[in-house]
Amino acid sequence: MLAVTMSLLAGKIGLVFGVANKRSIAWAIAQAWHKAGATLAFTYQGERLKENVEELVSTFGPDTLLLPCDVTKDEDINTVFAAVQQKFGKLHLLLHAVAFAPKEALEGRFVNTTRDAFKIAHDVSAYSLVALARGAAPLMTEGGSIVAMSYYGAEKVIPHYNVMGVAKAALEASTRYLAYDLGAQKIRVNCISAGPVNTLAARGIAGFSAMLKHYEQHAPLKRNVLPDELGATGTFLASDGAAAITGQVLYVDCGYQVMGMTEAPKAA
Ligand code: NAP
Repeated sequence: MLAVTMSLLAGKIGLVFGVANKRSIAWAIAQAWHKAGATLAFTYQGERLKENVEELVSTFGPDTLLLPCDVTKDEDINTVFAAVQQKFGKLHLLLHAVAFAPKEALEGRFVNTTRDAFKIAHDVSAYSLVALARGAAPLMTEGGSIVAMSYYGAEKVIPHYNVMGVAKAALEASTRYLAYDLGAQKIRVNCISAGPVNTLAARGIAGFSAMLKHYEQHAPLKRNVLPDELGATGTFLASDGAAAITGQVLYVDCGYQVMGMTEAPKAA
């Protein structure tokens, strides 16, 4: 377990989107934010996840704010920010760890992506950052840090990642435009581009276990990233240590992104 300074985020209020279970990247970052002294509120998607998330979140205390939110529904988003306004009157941190694409779009050829799958993937995984940032900004009266989760498939072709890579490219570009728009309010917007982590969403990608092995063999650090390490990076981006960092995509992938060729060519 990585040590996080208790007081790094003391007095900060954070809102977390994307906890499904204890393996969720959102849960790893939320725990790190909490350990660093932040007070947190959470959302979950739909009744199916309620009990699970309720149980996890109760470890932060009985009166932790927990609300349903389907990020494709403006009325849900408005209700969440109204509740945060009512309970805390302000907000400093927002974590966007939400993504979805229909399973069939993550299996076959990208060229076969349907209009519907394209729309859904972009609505849930990219547009939602814009909608959440717009809801958060009026509450971030003391400045703020918005962190979104991305993946290398935004930048390079990763077989099977397909439309999700295109949606992550939109997410990363949105991060830059939001950073520009919100910078004058001292609100920073950044992405963490994580190496593969074994979560519910990741298991929807065909060949995901092979992907984990591939990183282990070819990343400069010869291993996969740990959830705690994503928590530590999330805490850094939320903290004043990152006060001059905005609009960036920070790779937390054991160095995989720097590789141009993953195997040394054999000498003739
Ligand atoms: P996860 O635990 O399955 O989290 C994904 C979350 O998105 C779930 O809570 C899911 O809820 C939620 N979600 C989906 N559609 C939603 C909607 N319409 N409204 C609200 N929430 C919705 O998987 P994860 O791997 O931690 O994913 C978190 C983020 O990290 C995602 O953006 C993902 O792309 C990114 N990421 C993951 C990896 C990896 O290898 N795991 C690597 C790089 C980046 P449901 O379960 O109800 O759908």
